[in-house]
Amino acid sequence: MVPHSEDVRRYLMQTQELFGEELYLNLQIQHPDSSGEFGADFNSFEQEICNCKNCPLSRSRTKFVFGVGDPNASLLLVGEAPGAEEDRLGEPFVGRAGKLLDKILTAIGRNRQKDVYICNVLKCRPPNNRDPLRAEVEECEPYLLHQIRLIKPKLIVALGRVAGQTLLNVDKSLKSLRNTFHDYHGTPLMVTYHPAALLRNQDLKRPTWEDFKTIKEFLEQSR
Ligand code: SF4
Repeated sequence: MVPHSEDVRRYLMQTQELFGEELYLNLQIQHPDSSGEFGADFNSFEQEICNCKNCPLSRSRTKFVFGVGDPNASLLLVGEAPGAEEDRLGEPFVGRAGKLLDKILTAIGRNRQKDVYICNVLKCRPPNNRDPLRAEVEECEPYLLHQIRLIKPKLIVALGRVAGQTLLNVDKSLKSLRNTFHDYHGTPLMVTYHPAALLRNQDLKRPTWEDFKTIKEFLEQSR
C-alpha cells in the first residue's frame, strides 16, 4: 500500500520528536545475489544477463550458455563451465558426454524436459576448457544462485570434481566429496562423476550408477 502524504508527514514529525533534526531511514542493502537484484521470471532473467560482460570470458565466448530444462525441476544438475560444443550451440552438456547424461537420466525416469534442469557454474566457456578461476566464479555465481532461487530444486548434483570443488569452495578429491549430502545455500548437494569421465574410464560407470540410484531414492522420498 502506498502511504498517504499525511501519514508520511506524521511519521517524519514523530521521527523528528524522537531523534531531533537527524533523520533515520531503514535502508535495506541489496547484496548482488539477493532476490531483488534480478527479475522473478525465468525467461526474462536469461534475457537480462545474456549479454553479461562482468568477466573477460565474455570476450572469448561464442554463445552464452544459460541452461536447459524444466524451470520447475526437482533435480538441478550443475557442471563447471561450457565446453567447445556447448559454446558453439549455446546449450550445456551436448556431444558424447551429453548423450551419455541423457541415457543416465532416462534410466531414472527423467529427461532434459522432464523434472530436470541442467546448467553450469560459469555461463561462458573458459579458453581451452581450463578450470574456472575464482574471480570468474565470484562474478557468475550470483546467476546460478538466482536460477536456484527460481527453480527451487529439491536436490543439486554437481557433475565432476571441478564443479563440486567450485560450488563447495573446497580443495578435496571427488572421492572424498561423493557419498555425502552437502549444503549449498540451503539446498542439499551431491557430487558425482562428470559424464565425460565415464567416457574415458568405464570403471566409473558403476559408482556413478550407484549415485544416481541414491539421487532417485532421495527425490522419491522428498516428494
Ligand atoms: S562467465 Fe559469467 S560473469 Fe563471466 S561474462 Fe560470462 S556470464 Fe558474465
